[in-house]
Amino acid sequence: MYIWLKDPNMRIERKHSGKDISIFSEMTLLAQQHGAVNLSQGFPDFETDPKLKELLAKATADNHNQYAPLTGVPLLIENLATFNAARPKPLRIHPSEIIITPGATYGIYCALATILNPGDEVIVLEPSYDSYVPAIEINGGKPVFVSLDTDFRPDFEKIRNVVTMQTRAIIINSPHNPSGNIWTESDWEQLWQIVKDTEIIVISDEVYDLLCYDENTFTSVMHHTQLRERSYAVFSFGKMFHATGWKVGYVLASEELNHAFRRVHQYLSFCVNVPAQYALAGYLEVFDAKANAQMMQEKRDYLIDAFACLPFEISSKAQGGYFQTMDYRNFSDLNDKDFAVWLTREKKVCTVPVSAFYHNGQNTGKVRFCFAKKEETMDKAAELLRNLL
Ligand code: PMP
Ligand code: GLN
Repeated sequence: MYIWLKDPNMRIERKHSGKDISIFSEMTLLAQQHGAVNLSQGFPDFETDPKLKELLAKATADNHNQYAPLTGVPLLIENLATFNAARPKPLRIHPSEIIITPGATYGIYCALATILNPGDEVIVLEPSYDSYVPAIEINGGKPVFVSLDTDFRPDFEKIRNVVTMQTRAIIINSPHNPSGNIWTESDWEQLWQIVKDTEIIVISDEVYDLLCYDENTFTSVMHHTQLRERSYAVFSFGKMFHATGWKVGYVLASEELNHAFRRVHQYLSFCVNVPAQYALAGYLEVFDAKANAQMMQEKRDYLIDAFACLPFEISSKAQGGYFQTMDYRNFSDLNDKDFAVWLTREKKVCTVPVSAFYHNGQNTGKVRFCFAKKEETMDKAAELLRNLL
């Protein structure tokens, strides 16, 4: 529980209930140890666009190496306003509603640090991304868990039932990790009906915004006229441009909420990697979001086709994001964590158990495969799993 220092009277207490090593790092390490194909952690194994890499080299050669303004490089902010206005469903954002952050994890953390007081409750819909609960707890909040239904859809009655006078925020994630599900306009409206007479702030994790497949379109919390006045929408260039190691993102929020956010951000990070901001600004001018979504949809389909002869069950194709969940219960009785470890050790294919997205680690009988991978990587995984039974 504690970390003891060399001085036996000194110890550091835990600030949160999260694991010391996240499931994503744990599984990636296991994949390395066993020489397994890694379809666990959500990062692409294909090359980042050389144009983006060149822009980064150019930015630093052009001497963009000193601090930028707190909210971000003005060119990036301007280009983000233009980019959001040009979405298939346009999002009209004033530059004063944009703030550049060192990644989405930070954006979520800083939003919680901005609004939480000790004892405040935050509603978390499970399965949920692993950084939410530690970020709530470090900031003195208390997570209140609500399960999505068996299709990973929100159950608004259940959400309504956990709202109390202490509820300060709710965290939404769409497109959803791990299921890929996407919130519709009607979902946002139902959420509005629940929060409208409360002081609840919505923190909307929208890092997979550009990865919506088939007939699904992305609807941000910022598309909802009333919700946008009380929401932080959080984005990640790492996911947008397949460069997860860059750790740059942005947050959209009303001018007032942006002001409140800056009060914390000013002293937590101040500004964000400047050459990267210039490179991202330049890349936004040439980036083809439609072709990118098409490429990722093809990758999703490639994985599903490659695995078609395997005994996994897919209840529905991922609507968006980087991941496809699959059910293995018709051929194994192992719990999902043991199954994922067994698959890595014995079959040399690494995946993430969906139980890792629940605070109580409940077995789901499902694992999550990342399809942000080269075709040859997915082929190799399918080949290794050929003799699964
Ligand atoms: N939210 C979700 C749902 C994610 O899957 C991830 C991982 N990319 C993040 C947030 C973190 O994004 P970043 O790397 O920009 O901090
Ligand atoms: N977002 C990535 C995933 O879900 C992991 C990021 C991380 O390792 N923290 O796999």
